[in-house]
Amino acid sequence: MKGLSGKIAVVTGGGSGIGRGIALRLAAEGAKVAVLDLSESAAAETVALAGGNARAYVADVSDYAAVTAAADAIESDLGPIWLLVNNAGWDKPMPFLKTDQALWDKIIRINLYGPLVTHHVICPRMVAQGGGRVVNISSDAARVGTSDEAVYSACKGGLVAFTKSMARELARKNVLLNAVCPGPTNTPMMAAVLGAGDDAVKWKDAMVRGIPLRRMGEPEDYAGIVAFLASDDAGFITGQTLSVSGGMNMI
Ligand code: NAP
Repeated sequence: MKGLSGKIAVVTGGGSGIGRGIALRLAAEGAKVAVLDLSESAAAETVALAGGNARAYVADVSDYAAVTAAADAIESDLGPIWLLVNNAGWDKPMPFLKTDQALWDKIIRINLYGPLVTHHVICPRMVAQGGGRVVNISSDAARVGTSDEAVYSACKGGLVAFTKSMARELARKNVLLNAVCPGPTNTPMMAAVLGAGDDAVKWKDAMVRGIPLRRMGEPEDYAGIVAFLASDDAGFITGQTLSVSGGMNMI
C-alpha cells in the first residue's frame, strides 16, 4: 500500500490474535513495527514471525508511565511514530447482574482507559511532527451490543465515540483517526471466552450461522483495512467506523 514503507507503527496487544495479524501485515508492507504487549515472550514471537521489520516493547496500556517510557524507547530506536493501532483488549463474559465492580474496573481499564492513555501519550508526538494515523480496534459489540458483554460493549462503544471526537479535534493537525469493528474471530481471546466441550462447539456454530459469509473471522482479516487506513490512499478518511465481520451486522 502506498506510503507505508519506512513508517513507524505501534500495535498494542501485538503479541497475539488480531494484533499479531495486523503487525505482520504492516511489517510486510515495509513499516517498522513496534509490537507492544503485556507479555514480552508473545511480543517477541510476533517479532520473530515479522522477519526483521519489528521490535518488541513491554507495557500495560493502562499504565501512563510505562506507555510514555515505551513511546520514548520506540522513537529513539525506530523514529517518529506515524501509526498507533489500539488493539489490546480483554473481557470475561458473564451476565451483567452477576458482575462486580472489580470486574468492571478491569474491563474499563484495559479496553477504554488504556486507549485514552495511548492517545494522550502518542497523539501529541504526531501533532508535533505534522501528522499521523490512529486505528482503534473496537467491536461490533459497540454497534449492536452483546449479551454477557455489557461492560465490554460500553467500552467499545465509548471507544468509537472517543475516536470520532478525537478525529474532530485533531483533523486540522493532520492526525486522522478511525475505528474498525471486528466480529467474532478465532483468536486466543475467543478460545478463552468459548471454553471447551460441547457447549463451546454449539456456541461457535450459532455464531457462524449468524454471519452471512458463514465463517468466523481470522486475525488476518483485519490487517488489510488497518494497512489501508494507515496508507496514503486513506488521507481523506477520518472519524469513520467500519465493521469487518462477514456481514454479521449491516448498519
Ligand atoms: P487476544 O488474542 O487476547 O490478544 C490481545 C493481546 O492484547 C494479548 O497479547 C494480550 O496480552 C494483550 N493485552 C491485554 N491487555 C493488555 C494491556 N493492558 N496492555 C497491553 N497489552 C495487553 O485478543 P484478540 O481476540 O486478538 O483481540 C484483539 C482486539 O480485538 C481486542 O481489542 C478485542 O476486544 C477486539 N475484538 C476481538 C474479537 C474476537 O472475536 N476475538 C471480536 C471483536 C473485537 P496477554 O495475552 O498477555 O493478556
